[in-house]
Amino acid sequence: MQNAQILFPVNVPGAFDYAVPEDMDLSIGDFVYAPIGKQMKLGVVTGLGPAEEGRELKEIAERKATRPLSPEMIKFIEWTAKYNVASPGQVFRMVLRSYKALDPSPVVSHYMPTGAAPSQLTPSRRAVLREGDPFPARASEIASRAGVSASVVKGLVKVGAMQELALPVDAPFDEPNPDHPGMELTEGQEDAAKELVAQMQLQDFSVSLLDGVTGSGKTEVYFEAVAEALRQSGQVLILVPEIALTQAGMTRFEKRFGVKPAEWHSAAGDAPRRRVWREVAQGRAKLVVGARSALYLPFADLKLIVVDEEHDTSYKQEEGVIYNARDMSIVRAKLSGHAVILASATPSLESLHNARSGKFAHIVLPERPGAAVLPDIGLVDLKENQPEKGDFLSAPLIEAVRAGLAQGDQSMLYLNRRGYAPLIICRSCGEKLKSPDTDSWLVEHRATGRAMCHLTGFSMRMPTLCPNCKAEDSLTAVGPGVERVAEEAARHFPEARIEIFSSDTAGNPNAIRERMDRMAAGEIDILVGTQMVVKGHNFPHLTFVGVVDGDLGLAGGDPRAGERTYQTLVQVAGRAGRAEKPGRALIQTHQPEHEALLALAAGDRELFIGVELAMREMLGLPPFGKLAAVIISGPELKKTESLAKKMVNLAPRAEGIEILGPSEPPIGRLRGAFRRRLFIQAEPGVNLSRYMAVWRAKIRPPAKYKIQIDIDPQSFM
Ligand code: ADP
Repeated sequence: MQNAQILFPVNVPGAFDYAVPEDMDLSIGDFVYAPIGKQMKLGVVTGLGPAEEGRELKEIAERKATRPLSPEMIKFIEWTAKYNVASPGQVFRMVLRSYKALDPSPVVSHYMPTGAAPSQLTPSRRAVLREGDPFPARASEIASRAGVSASVVKGLVKVGAMQELALPVDAPFDEPNPDHPGMELTEGQEDAAKELVAQMQLQDFSVSLLDGVTGSGKTEVYFEAVAEALRQSGQVLILVPEIALTQAGMTRFEKRFGVKPAEWHSAAGDAPRRRVWREVAQGRAKLVVGARSALYLPFADLKLIVVDEEHDTSYKQEEGVIYNARDMSIVRAKLSGHAVILASATPSLESLHNARSGKFAHIVLPERPGAAVLPDIGLVDLKENQPEKGDFLSAPLIEAVRAGLAQGDQSMLYLNRRGYAPLIICRSCGEKLKSPDTDSWLVEHRATGRAMCHLTGFSMRMPTLCPNCKAEDSLTAVGPGVERVAEEAARHFPEARIEIFSSDTAGNPNAIRERMDRMAAGEIDILVGTQMVVKGHNFPHLTFVGVVDGDLGLAGGDPRAGERTYQTLVQVAGRAGRAEKPGRALIQTHQPEHEALLALAAGDRELFIGVELAMREMLGLPPFGKLAAVIISGPELKKTESLAKKMVNLAPRAEGIEILGPSEPPIGRLRGAFRRRLFIQAEPGVNLSRYMAVWRAKIRPPAKYKIQIDIDPQSFM
């Protein structure tokens, strides 16, 4: 007799033991149905062993006839859970994103001509059988293109002129062709590509940091490693920060490999998710492009993961299982023994540190191909160049846009703030409009006439009276958002074609792509955008980028603020000058002496990294030490505070660990829940995940109270 450990996709501490029926042949990774209480639930086998004497266990009911998860995938689930102090069941739930994908695809009737001519060839029948039309097709499709009713198709089946085929609804993906001709690489790109291909040929675990300036052709270079993985008949996963913004990037895959890749994002509908999941699990989808959750797809034979824009914060999932897909991709590669490529123009300090210490291969692309050069970046000291009263654009920015317009070039004005104004204040009583259940100011959106909370999505019609003192017409917009900057730009340049690009104006992926295409085609003169414009677009006629507020990311107690600001501004400025015409960027700032901005202006990354790494080392912050955060939240302030204090009192004593807090985070209240926070700093040798797990197990929060553990936090809100 055997026992099996079964993991269910639920948030409980671990797997449960079951007896394996005599006649059932089980392996690790098999999907099974087993009873939990009165229910039959689907789970996965994570362990097998001899039955223990005298221990009565419930029996597994049924083994599901489907492809099992690989043993590496089981290990990956367990590893993710352990490292991030989550339950393995929660992680398994992230894996099992489509139950239907475990079954074969549903089928649907298609029809095609048999070649036999019907005895009576009426005009409708002739239209249905028209040569050159695509067959097999569904009866409704055939009928509508022939302009007849579907009964004509069925009638043709009866007389033997057409046949019915049951075809899968979820069509397989086309096979990518690694030898489809790509772009001709420059010498520098060729060398970089060779190094990556050589890593691939080792067919072993490796991490390469592809560190290339903006526009240096990193995509073209890593495509060569992708091609090598495909030649080895393996699967490739390319992680991108935001798939909705990558639509233009998708055509590049098509150009290089001749087919569209499979696309994965968690917001996709049931049917596309089911199709991708099944095809990935069967090893038939070879090329997958996806957002972070794609890392938990059950690849049958993964050979390469590329993490594009590896520094991007959207790789961190902040809810449910809190994990960083960039870091977990390295774990996954290690467990299965394959390669990872981290690509970025502004690598995270952690990755740079690992590259320099020899843990990662470091592959550098210092130049843009052809005539393109990096933009020249300048700072505009706002103390010396004050904008007109009530305005936000200084004279140097306006002049630069004007000069561009005169040449027929495009400009971009960057401000990472949606809406018209970030603050609405009453001139009579000083009241600031606040979100009802969250510590966040309401943002005025003039285009829609609403006041919105950007944290929770709460919105209301813009009031005409002050909600506090009831004064009429006293509410004033304070500070700039993209709408206001666009308004100001229109005043300076009434003839220019100005558009706003933010998540409010972008719409669906097709609308985004349409607008980006128009920008690339030169149909927009001035694009005013939020961080949505930063990622992955190439605009050949864009020569000037103006950053409206270079200080925006620097405020607050976030130890990564300098790094983020530096990364974002390099990426924003890097949109300019991607083709023949050189680009230029100007950054408006009140802190021209800040090292991140100085380094930007000097084009000296080393300067910035040197200062930043020295500071991290001094403070014992990552990559020189470990950091975790705990957010304690609940409906009552006093109880939340006392739960946080109790947590601190229960902290196990350990060498090399320091606990800071509890304190009130910048967002002290979110959707009605009060929040308190702890930071835990540990020396490099400490197993911080294990420490946190032991600690967490000592405390059981009352109903409605939550304790969230965040290993290596990226958000300090
Ligand atoms: P990165 O990801 O490094 O910012 P991309 O891969 O997006 O750079 O390339 C930037 C632009 O340069 C793209 O439009 C790309 O098509 C073009 N490009 C890259 N390599 C070459 C090359 N060898 N020859 C011509 N154009 C290139």
